[in-house]
Amino acid sequence: MENIARPRGTMDVMAPDIFMWNHIEKTVRAVAERYGFSEIKTPTFEEIGLFKRGVGETTDVVQKEMYSFTDKDGTMFALRPEGTASVVRAIIENGKASDTLPLKYFYLINCFRYEKPEAGRSREFVQFGTEMFGAPSAAADFTVISLADTVLRELGLKNVRLHINSIGCPECRPVYRAELVKYLNAHAGELCDTCLERMNTNPLRVLDCKNESCRKVAENAPRTVDHLCEECRTHLDDLTSSLDACGVGYVIDPHIVRGLDYYTKTVFEFISEGIGAQSTVCGGGRYDGLMEELGGPRMAGIGFGMGITRIILAMKQEGIDVPVLGVPQLYVATMGKKAVTEGLKIVSELRAMGVNAETDVVGRSLKAQMKYADKISARFVLMLGDTEIESGKAQLKEMATSEQAEIDIGEVAGFIKDRANQ
Ligand code: ATP
Ligand code: MG
Repeated sequence: MENIARPRGTMDVMAPDIFMWNHIEKTVRAVAERYGFSEIKTPTFEEIGLFKRGVGETTDVVQKEMYSFTDKDGTMFALRPEGTASVVRAIIENGKASDTLPLKYFYLINCFRYEKPEAGRSREFVQFGTEMFGAPSAAADFTVISLADTVLRELGLKNVRLHINSIGCPECRPVYRAELVKYLNAHAGELCDTCLERMNTNPLRVLDCKNESCRKVAENAPRTVDHLCEECRTHLDDLTSSLDACGVGYVIDPHIVRGLDYYTKTVFEFISEGIGAQSTVCGGGRYDGLMEELGGPRMAGIGFGMGITRIILAMKQEGIDVPVLGVPQLYVATMGKKAVTEGLKIVSELRAMGVNAETDVVGRSLKAQMKYADKISARFVLMLGDTEIESGKAQLKEMATSEQAEIDIGEVAGFIKDRANQ
């Protein structure tokens, strides 16, 4: 029969990569909780309208990348392409908008986008995201940026740099947008087809097009930072002052505009030097209009999304090792029914004490069990047969030194436990 392969753009994750995943998940949870963010779980699919409104009709995500389907009752759903819209819906739906502010949530979720798969870009991917609502100040921007920065540093990443920009607000952006469109029109001949379309729908996106010729046009384009209203200007200055004061490195990058429609003021990306084209490991920004857009109260918001696969690529590129599954402190080799039972008793006792221990479950010969113990790098091996069970004494061998000594079977667990952390 023909084998069925996994869907294009999806992953099977197992050892050794799974150790990286687990280490990253543990780190992001620990850091997020230290910053006072609480975890939120929302459904994997939502009514498609939520993403159309929340992410924006003009975005690639909504126009091309959504996995949508019609339910048996005719409702159109989509697998979530990102986390923010769902968090906002959940806040509104569960009456959390009237809780004491700020609201601080984080999530570790799988997202789905119909994209062309390549290194760092898949159709199902995992995102670590944070959202803070009800905090309009630059101190809030600093807090979420600092959270992302701390995660990246605690993972040991050194070649990741923070790029920030401000894209203004409904006050100053229309003026800027008009000037940008004028400039782009004058250079229409040098733009790719997608950008020609974007010029009318979402002209800011032309600035982060990866196409060589569009990049050249973007080089000399008018910059948002030169067109900010006073409020947006002060906001950006306050943010950079805090970053400076707290030693968080950054560059101002006028090409960071983010793909999603709802961003205002601060936008930022953490970019890894050296993992190729998909180098943005984290992207985020402020979206003060989103909550209202989705039917909630007017409430400032800021957050980011961090792609775990891209973090893994960056960690591998920087040669960062993570803790792997612990090795067994004891392997009990058994011959005969009574020995099997005694072996299970000893490993159960050790496991209950938090110590990694193993015994035979395959029915191997003694010789094969010794070989297996060596293969799994067991630290000690206890050899149990009928004679040992009868006498209550058995041989315990330390694998690294091949030293062997007799021990009371009843004392094995305690002996191993005492040495487990040495
Ligand atoms: P890109 O420009 O790379 O397509 P994006 O602007 O679409 O990114 P966001 O929607 O801001 O990305 O998502 C936040 C983060 O999620 C990205 O910075 C990236 O790390 C990760 N990410 C986005 N799309 C994918 C994908 N298809 N596969 C893996 N990771 C992804
Ligand atoms: Mg994208």
